[in-house]
Amino acid sequence: MRVYNFSAGPAMLPEEVLKRAADEMLEYGDSGQSVMEMSHRSKEYQAIIDSVEAKLREVMSIPDNYKVLFLQGGASSQFAMIPLNLMNKSGKADFVLTGQWATKAYQEASRYGECKVVASSKDKTFSYIPELNKADFTPDADYFHICYNNTIYGTRFSELPDTGSVPLVADMSSAILSEPVDVTKYGLIYAGAQKNMGPAGLTVVIIREDLIGNARDITPTMFNYKTHAENGSMYNTPPTYGIYILGLVLDWVKEKGGLEAMAKINAEKAKILYDFLDGSKLFKPTVQGKDRSMMNIPFVTGSDELDAKFVSEAKKAGLINIKGHRSVGGMRASIYNAMPIEGVKKLVEFMAKFEAENA
Ligand SMILES: *Cc1c(COP(=O)(O)O)cnc(C)c1O
Repeated sequence: MRVYNFSAGPAMLPEEVLKRAADEMLEYGDSGQSVMEMSHRSKEYQAIIDSVEAKLREVMSIPDNYKVLFLQGGASSQFAMIPLNLMNKSGKADFVLTGQWATKAYQEASRYGECKVVASSKDKTFSYIPELNKADFTPDADYFHICYNNTIYGTRFSELPDTGSVPLVADMSSAILSEPVDVTKYGLIYAGAQKNMGPAGLTVVIIREDLIGNARDITPTMFNYKTHAENGSMYNTPPTYGIYILGLVLDWVKEKGGLEAMAKINAEKAKILYDFLDGSKLFKPTVQGKDRSMMNIPFVTGSDELDAKFVSEAKKAGLINIKGHRSVGGMRASIYNAMPIEGVKKLVEFMAKFEAENA
């Protein structure tokens, strides 16, 4: 029996996608082989990667002056790759610290240049998105970094900072494909695939063309965006199977009505859980108001013992990986695109029952 998996990542994939992958596992089309076994230089594989890029461009409305790169190394490698490639004019960059990932991006970039913390919400365990004051922004920064959706703390930007001509760079690992995005507002968007796009091992970078080609001399070849842009993400062996699965996920997203439809159903799913949390006497949400994430929803009972009991009983009921991150404690329900609305309803029913028995 398949469970409802509330993991923050690697996370659930749509059942339709897994079934299609299973159907095509032994033989893709009439190629006589699995996608996993294909040469990345073969014409069959070239057709796959080309179609995946085309689908991503279509689904996200990515303009022609942006490159799509299929890389490895996780979102975490981007923390270094971005400064190596972008921080080369003034050598400065701005950061908003909204959680652990944003902080890691800041710390890594600080090894390469002058990094400024424009705002932080560390004072309250990153439970909100701090107010931004444009007067604090560095006018000649090479980029301005945000983590759009904070996977661990369950917040997300409801309004983007107006950075003017400074390229806005966003870690979108846990929100990409969950809602429409105006790509033109960003210089660079990056995401590890394992939250909402496919299996772990693939990292997607969407970068405005003029930001490519300025890497510093010491940049490792594999860390230079130019290397991958000039070679169609085929400088070396790309994560071939992960890219193929992303293609199946994009077919699924398209079939469901695209990102507008994803945003609608995701908002509906999140509302079911937030409404319950707001009315609960036992469970408390850790984030309030407009900063609430649609993807990652942390909550606590206030008792470590009850939290542990809940996590363990939920698991027995087929609701797995609901334990919160150790820095927040309690629980966290990650409800990415692939989590069906039935899964959220099941969770809320289970929480109501647990509350009745334990409050
Ligand atoms: C998961 C996650 C990361 C880390 O991704 P890796 O692919 O494991 O390096 C970075 N940022 C955000 C927002 C994440 O959710």
